Formats: sequence, structure tokens, C-alpha cells
Amino acid sequence: MVLVKQRKLSLGERFYFKTVLVGLVYTVKNIFKKKITRQYPEVKLDPAPSFHGVPVLVQDTEGNPKCVACGLCEFVCPPIAIHIVGTETDRPIERAPKTFQIDMLRCIECGYCEEVCPEEAIVMSQEYELVGGNRHDFKWELDQLLTPESKLKPRLEYIRKTFHRWRVDARDEGTAAAVPGKGGAGKPLQGTKVHAALERYGDNY
Ligand code: SF4
Ligand code: SF4
Repeated sequence: MVLVKQRKLSLGERFYFKTVLVGLVYTVKNIFKKKITRQYPEVKLDPAPSFHGVPVLVQDTEGNPKCVACGLCEFVCPPIAIHIVGTETDRPIERAPKTFQIDMLRCIECGYCEEVCPEEAIVMSQEYELVGGNRHDFKWELDQLLTPESKLKPRLEYIRKTFHRWRVDARDEGTAAAVPGKGGAGKPLQGTKVHAALERYGDNY
């Protein structure tokens, strides 16, 4: 005769068991719901403003890129998908890209370029269809990347509401007033870039 001693389940094991049950209940509940099949590509997806499509360059109302060719996006891009050659211009912004190329085969649509851009000049679009016959077709140049600002309004509003808040504050209230440590009265929120920069550089920020 073999005696099997039953072992008591640990808290973690019981929790896992519960998790499986919750998952099963969810599956069973949804199995009988009406199925929806999207008739893509005839019926396109209508992405939310939070959607990360391919990055594009913002074109101002005069038809110029808002980009000042600072190179920050090129620097942060993890897969080195961006290549910029800057040039001088007569416009007030003084610098602009002579060439701006994004290799969409390399781009992982992470959005770092958008987040780091000080000019709101590069944003994640709602474009998700990439088709090409060869590798060269996926190297988008300046003229392909430029998109009128009016078409990018939902995304621009979205990014201002989320991670651009500190930049908007600085523009609205003046950098010195908005940044504590330089005469500003407000306190930066924990986790914001201003907070991180002040932690790192103190009064030199
Ligand atoms: S979305 Fe990410 S990977 Fe694509 S170009 Fe921007 S930084 Fe590079
Ligand atoms: S970070 Fe913005 S302004 Fe700077 S090069 Fe990139 S797109 Fe242009």
C-alpha cells in the first residue's frame, strides 16, 4: 500500500489556481458572445489618438517642417532608423533638415523620437499600412514624411495632455516661472522630466 500525503497549497499556488479559474470564466463568458469579424482591408481600423503608427514629420501652415534638425530623435532612436542632415535657413528657426530619412523597416514604433522632440515636430501617426516592393521603398524621405499639422491634431492634443505637460507649462508660463529652483513657485510632479532634471542638475537646470 502506498500512502500519499496530501500537501497543503501555498498561498501563491492557491492564487494561481484562482487566476486560472478567473481566466476560464472570462473565456467561457466571451465564447458565446456575438463574434465580430473586421473586414480588413475593405474596412479600415480607426485608431485612437494613443495609437502608435509610423512616425511622421509635422508640416506647419506655411508648408515648412517644424523640425529644427537638432538631432535628438536621431540620437535616441534605439534601432538607428533616423538619419538627418541639417542646414541653415533664413527663417526664424535658423536650422532645418536638408534631408530627413526614416527607415521604416528598422523603426519599431516606440515613440521615443516623438517624446524627445522639443518642437513637436515628429509624431506617431495613425498610418499602419506599410507596403513596398523592395527595401528602398521603406526608406521614407522628407517629402514622404511631411504631414500637415491639421491632420495630426488628435495626436498632438494627446501628447500635450500626457508627456508634454511640462513643456506646455514652460511655454505658457515662461521657463523661469515654471521651473522651481529658477524662481518658479510651483513644485514639479514626481516622475516628470522636470522633476528628474532638477534631481540631477539642481539649480544648474
Ligand atoms: S518610433 Fe522609435 S524606432 Fe521609430 S524612428 Fe522613432 S525612435 Fe526610432
Ligand atoms: S528631435 Fe524634433 S526638432 Fe530635433 S531633429 Fe528630431 S524631429 Fe527635428
